[in-house]
Amino acid sequence: MSRWFDETLHEDIAQRLKADRVLYDSQTEHQRIVLFENTLLGRVLMLDGVVQTTEGDEFIYHEMLTHLPILAHGAVRRVLIIGGGDGGMLEEALKHREIESVTLVEIDPQVIEFSKQYLGKICGEAFDDPRTRIVIADGVDYVATSKDRFDLIITDSTDPIGPGEALFTERYYTACKDRLAPGGVLVTQNGVPFLQGEELQGTLRILRRSFTDASCYLATVPTYAGGPMAFGWASDDTALRRTPLDVLQKRYASARIATRYYNPQVHQGAFALPGYIADLITEPA
Ligand code: SAM
Repeated sequence: MSRWFDETLHEDIAQRLKADRVLYDSQTEHQRIVLFENTLLGRVLMLDGVVQTTEGDEFIYHEMLTHLPILAHGAVRRVLIIGGGDGGMLEEALKHREIESVTLVEIDPQVIEFSKQYLGKICGEAFDDPRTRIVIADGVDYVATSKDRFDLIITDSTDPIGPGEALFTERYYTACKDRLAPGGVLVTQNGVPFLQGEELQGTLRILRRSFTDASCYLATVPTYAGGPMAFGWASDDTALRRTPLDVLQKRYASARIATRYYNPQVHQGAFALPGYIADLITEPA
């Protein structure tokens, strides 16, 4: 018999997903992991009652947080992913043959073990790639103590509840800046602005204090309900956010990656912000 899961992320609105078959339900030291199958979405991963990824729409989120900054930058060799234990971001980043290493820092080792076993459609063989380096640690501690430098840092975190909360703080963002190589870029998952406007506002306020250029870009991911999702963008290279279309097209063609959401036109359009989102991130004069 089917069961329904109510997402518990927002106070005033919730989405319900049908679980045709529950495959896994377990409490780790950090969070409750639930995996179930849904006819429309395939396998759905929930952590602490919040949808993290689904086989059906993961490509949108993962493509936009990897290919967009990688192709905007043009010479990414070393990538750092904070969170991302499902391996989807790792798999997408590794599609770029010129990338030399991807370090993934995940606080909960059970998410990784579980994803290898149950989410092969999302992580593929990424955990076995010789360029992959896995660190089990709190992402904040890692960026605060590591001496390594990266061309791209991706925050692939849970929402700012529980262990993910620390990944939305000034301490974390300023330490990320120290971990970036010159001309590097930080991108972050920043929730759905229509429902989580303060989250985006808070992040941008901090990023603007630390980086020469900070803004956000958008993509609509059906299971992150409530409108388009915002991704934070921060770099000291102001040109990166405005990489010309012909340059993106050349880089995309030579990368030879198959994408279902990302393309150079979508890349440029993603930085166009509707009024209600632009207002959220505009500092009062
Ligand atoms: N795509 C997802 C979303 O936006 O809903 C995020 C998916 S990914 C599974 C999030 C991961 O971040 C989880 O596996 C969680 O364990 C990890 N995480 C949460 N807080 C963390 C922290 N402080 N340091 C490192 N990893 C963390």
